[in-house]
This record gives sequence, structure tokens and C-alpha cells, in this order.
Amino acid sequence: MIAADLIAENISWGPYKNQPLLLHPTSFELKAGQVLGVVGPNGAGKSTLLRMIYRYQNPLTGRIFVDGDDIWSIPPRAAARKVAAVLQEQHTSFGLTVREVVTLGRTPHRLGFSTPGDRDSEIVDDAMSQLDLHKIAYRDVQTLSGGERQRVMVARALAQQPQVLVLDEPTNHLDIRHQLEILALIRNLDLTIVVSLHDLNMAADVCDVVLLLEAGHAKGFGAPDEVLTETHVSEAFRVQARSEYLSPSNTKHLSFHLPE
Ligand code: ADP
Repeated sequence: MIAADLIAENISWGPYKNQPLLLHPTSFELKAGQVLGVVGPNGAGKSTLLRMIYRYQNPLTGRIFVDGDDIWSIPPRAAARKVAAVLQEQHTSFGLTVREVVTLGRTPHRLGFSTPGDRDSEIVDDAMSQLDLHKIAYRDVQTLSGGERQRVMVARALAQQPQVLVLDEPTNHLDIRHQLEILALIRNLDLTIVVSLHDLNMAADVCDVVLLLEAGHAKGFGAPDEVLTETHVSEAFRVQARSEYLSPSNTKHLSFHLPE
């Protein structure tokens, strides 16, 4: 896997003409291998931003470059070799086994209707090992727990061998152990990653840079310490945020209260 630079240049999106945009022009640059956390309250525009990056919703303005290529001006299959996504609800696996779903990740790399070859099998095996899926390789995906299914979706995305991985709230519905496992995996992958997260402490822990969105506007982009300040978080989420250092690790921790 080879991570690549990701550049978003003034990207915006809205469903209707002459209506307010759901995401106002937003720009940022990620270096190869960086992890970007997209945070903000419900409805802030996080999924809208992510959809443009994984080539689902065409930006109204602006461009997105991965490794120098404008992902909206190359063929969809070529874009799928650059960007993979792990979404919250993917209902594409009816009746398929874990291994079959992970193998779907190879589709953008295959010619026409050719069947998977040895190299594809090796890559699928490797992705399944990374996510510890061999024990359940022949289970119907429908019978899996939420955490197991999430791991399958990540393995499928890895089998796609992208340069950029987009994850939309990957810790949703997972218990704490599985949340930590997914975050540890994200941190260790040699990919450029864009991940939306609700938990700001987790975002600060796992991300190199954070983009804070509020009502479709970027309110901050930079190192977690610079962006996730008491003031920014309190304003964006309309709460009272308090930042304190936890001993013995001396890590910063945000806690939240409703304003009086
Ligand atoms: P977030 O992921 O931060 O919760 P979203 O990007 O899903 O926010 O949505 C931002 C806002 O845009 C929300 O108010 C949502 O209801 C609205 N929205 C999202 N997609 C569409 C659409 N296709 N048409 C109309 N409104 C939409």
C-alpha cells in the first residue's frame, strides 16, 4: 500500500440551486500517510465532505487531488484504485460470505468480467489477516455482529489497495474494545486517512490533523491541540467544554457540560 498526498481545493456542495450550501468552500492539504479527523455536530457537513472525497457526490465547486490526479476527472475505476470508503451502513453483501465481500474490494483492479487470480487471493488473504477474519471467512456476513461486520468492511477497503481511505464514523455502534481496535488499526495503516469521528478525545488521540466543521463551514484545520480548544469546541457544539490534563500520562482530555 502506498499512501499519497490529498488536496481539497475549495470544495463545496449543496443539493439545490439558489439554496444555502451544505458545505461551503473548504480547502485542506494532507501529506501522504496523515490521518485527518473530521469533527463537528450533527448536520455540520461531515458526511457531505466525505462523499465528495470517495467520489459519490460531485463537488459543486473545487477539486480534489490524490497523488496529483483530480479524482473527479479520471474514470471511476481509476478513482476506486485511489480512494476506498468504509461507510456506516453498507447493504451490499446480501447472502455473501466474509471472504466474498472482502474479494469485492479487488473489483476495480480486475479487467472486465475476469475472475479473481492468485495475486487477488493473496491480497484478500492479507487484508483478512490484518483484520483477523480468517476464523469467520465462510460465515454469511448477515449473521455477523456489528463489530465483525465493520472489520469485514475495513478489510474490503484494504483489499482495494487504495492510497486514501475514507471512514464515516467507523466507531459508531461498536463497544469500547472494538472502537479502540479500529482506531489502533487506523493509526497503524500506511495510508492517507480521512475519518469522521464523534468522540473528540478519540479524534485528538488518533489524528495528526483535525478539521472542525460547523453548519457547513470549516471552523478550524490543524493539529488537534490547536483546533480542539475549549473555545472552539464550546462554540461549535454549543456546550461548555473543559480541557484538562490527565495524570499519569499527562494527556489532554476534554469534558463537556450543558451551558447554564
Ligand atoms: P453530518 O455528517 O455532519 O451529520 P451531513 O453532511 O450528513 O452532516 O449533513 C449536513 C446537512 O445537510 C444536514 O442538515 C442534512 O440533513 C443535509 N443533507 C445532507 N444530504 C442532503 C441531501 N442530499 N439533500 C438535502 N439535504 C441534505
